[in-house]
Amino acid sequence: MKENGYFGTIPLSKKTLASITEMGFEEPSPIQSQTIPLVIEGNDVIGQAQTGTGKTAAFGIPIMERITDQRQIQALILTPTRELAIQVSEEIAKIGKFRRVKTLPIYGGQSIDRQIRALRFGVQVVIGTPGRLLDHIRRNTIKLNAVKMLILDEADEMLDMGFIEDIETIFQNIPTDRQTLLFSATMPQAIINLAEKYMKNPVTITINKEQLTVPLIDQFYYETRDKINGLCRVLDVETAERTIIFCRTKKGVDDLVATLQGRGYMADGLHGDLSQAQRDRVMKKFRDGKLEILIATDVAARGLDIEHITHVINYDIPQDPESYVHRIGRTGRAGKKGVAITFIGPREYRQLKIIEKVAKTRIVRRQLPSPADILD
Ligand code: ADP
Ligand code: MG
Repeated sequence: MKENGYFGTIPLSKKTLASITEMGFEEPSPIQSQTIPLVIEGNDVIGQAQTGTGKTAAFGIPIMERITDQRQIQALILTPTRELAIQVSEEIAKIGKFRRVKTLPIYGGQSIDRQIRALRFGVQVVIGTPGRLLDHIRRNTIKLNAVKMLILDEADEMLDMGFIEDIETIFQNIPTDRQTLLFSATMPQAIINLAEKYMKNPVTITINKEQLTVPLIDQFYYETRDKINGLCRVLDVETAERTIIFCRTKKGVDDLVATLQGRGYMADGLHGDLSQAQRDRVMKKFRDGKLEILIATDVAARGLDIEHITHVINYDIPQDPESYVHRIGRTGRAGKKGVAITFIGPREYRQLKIIEKVAKTRIVRRQLPSPADILD
């Protein structure tokens, strides 16, 4: 296999190389060049690298190099959200294109019968959210006895969401001679504890410890008592292609969608109370460029890789610094530039300073554009 070719200095099979070349990957990113060889060798790995730096392929490529053509689940990937499960499944399928690798996303909100049929048909890589996966384990509709790689993408978020018990149950249902991998841009202590309990001599790879956010993202904030008018002015002066606006609550999302739509903006919402069909529709419109502004809760903060997102706006300041890092990381991906704007009210300055400190970043103050700055 090794004489087949190289991705940077990493020897890879011809088929994997052909697919990633087709995906436009020429050189491995730092997290890829450091983790892929270790993972291919079979090590347990904790990989931390900034948002948008190619962590999916850092585990996706080794999966391709390690699984066989047998139609058994050999790799299991856990993600915190449905949208991310779908996206990761698609990326792994692309990497496995010439192997015709069968991947399947399984998540709540989709017909379980359909998932059961797909599982019976035989898949090699499953990407699932913890709740639905557990559901399949309990119903005995998923066979995990051949899993040799277990990957937690956005590991820390799944703990934050209170999935810890679900995750531990899932761990217990997977052969212990497996390989376990954790990836995220943020690795708080709780995740290290989990790692110590369930991983075997994990190798930790951290890219750029001193910088949790990528320098490609221009970060600033506005302080105002009138956020809605401030937001509209900003939307009018910024030359944005696609924008994500984050709100703290589902109701906040719904209200802002109504307000912006009422003012003539091409905006729609995404949060956990919408039906799966509606979530899928909005995501598709946004990915296809038929929607300029996506307004979302933190359900969209993690992992989503959507082209042409030039602006991330925190309409409500994030609850914690990790959330800030991940939210703004929806822009500035794969070497492209981005703008991250945070609105704060008069009492939120301290919170902003905490974020700056923990996220090891600088968020620069700006004055709101005046009506005269708005070109028509
Ligand atoms: P992360 O999980 O680190 O946030 P992703 O895995 O979502 O990042 O990757 C971000 C984007 O970069 C994706 O569109 C992906 O296809 C692309 N990408 C990944 N690796 C490479 C590479 N080596 N060369 C070019 N683009 C890459
Ligand atoms: Mg990711």
